Amino acid sequence: MRSEELFAEAQTLMPGGVSSPVRAIKPYPFYTRSASGSHLLTEDGENLVDCCLGYGPLILGHAHPAVREAICSCTEGGWLYGTPAEKELILARMIVADHPSVDMVRFVSSGSEATMAAIRLARGFTNREDIIKIEGGFHGAHDGVLIKAGSGATTMGVPDSAGVIPDVVRHTLQVPYNDTEALSSLLENNDNVAAFILEPVLGNVGPVLPDENYLSEVRKITEEHDVLLILDEVITGYRLGIGGAQVKYGITPDLTTFGKIIGGGLPIGCFSGRRDIMAMTAPAGPVYQAGTFSGNPLSLSAGIACLQQLRDNPGVYSTLAENARAIGESIPSAKSDGFVNLGSMFKLFFRKTPPRDYREAKESDTEAFSVFWNKMIKKGIFLPPSQFETNFLSIAHTEEDVATIAGAYSECLS
Ligand code: PLP
Repeated sequence: MRSEELFAEAQTLMPGGVSSPVRAIKPYPFYTRSASGSHLLTEDGENLVDCCLGYGPLILGHAHPAVREAICSCTEGGWLYGTPAEKELILARMIVADHPSVDMVRFVSSGSEATMAAIRLARGFTNREDIIKIEGGFHGAHDGVLIKAGSGATTMGVPDSAGVIPDVVRHTLQVPYNDTEALSSLLENNDNVAAFILEPVLGNVGPVLPDENYLSEVRKITEEHDVLLILDEVITGYRLGIGGAQVKYGITPDLTTFGKIIGGGLPIGCFSGRRDIMAMTAPAGPVYQAGTFSGNPLSLSAGIACLQQLRDNPGVYSTLAENARAIGESIPSAKSDGFVNLGSMFKLFFRKTPPRDYREAKESDTEAFSVFWNKMIKKGIFLPPSQFETNFLSIAHTEEDVATIAGAYSECLS
């Protein structure tokens, strides 16, 4: 197999042979030669239905014509200026218009950069040091959030990374998801908390869904304690609908981070929110943040084209949700109790009930997941290779693809 050969050499050139840990599928990952629509073509000649979609950004599927056209025509005019460009305003206007909580945005090059800057901004604005995150919540691979940090780290057995010094994470406190009492009591005993950062739906554990009223309670509690709420919508932004989780659940965060879909599949991130807080960002204010590739025209072009497609076709969200539901319905009833679905995010947990938090998710039978994953890939379905990663659908998945995925679920679980 060509993938096996490539991986053998890759291990001599890159740690673990990969550019990001979760890609190191055992015994060796397949290498992708090209991708189109809902399919990946591997270097071994296999054609796979893709339910990983680059871990979320590709809601339009691979190589969508409108995005490709936007990228190609952008290249005619160069792809890095080191100066402002009007495309920044176009994407900024869209994000501001779609999110009532967002007055201003700053573009960066990844979701990690976005959360890192949002946390720094929250600290700069409040003059406080601590942040609270969710156990198992993932906000990228920077020091301050790398404790009990979601899917990749959990799958690789390194939820707490070596090299992150205690002095840094001393200021990162944790509460379980869906536990408002833990949040309240932590805040009652600590007046040094700048912000609570959370994924509205735990995408890097599952998905794990919020209990009814959890997010509105979180908003109430953070307001009562004058603590900023940073909603990390890197996955959920434009995934759960125009306006993301905050519009769906009717909550108003102080800051929001975006990534993935807003770049149409090219590297991007963005932190955003209330004008008075955002105005603390350099050069308008004293909180420093900068980047060579920030607001690069290529990512902006892809992002604008992608969001335009979604805004022009808002009906796609209900089709995506119906398709994910249909996949869930194909699971034999004896195995379906751990199925979780929200819009086009879905996952079968190998446990008796949908998990409510990280601890419950970790009780899943990961051996059984692994057996299932291997059966699915043999049937031509590529699911993210971790029990703790969300599966996604795109608008490129046809009825036939959905039937193929559903059929594979049914057979592999019977
Ligand atoms: N925040 C969330 C919720 C994510 O899911 C991710 C990545 O998966 C990030 C932040 C980090 O984004 P990036 O991988 O673009 O740095």
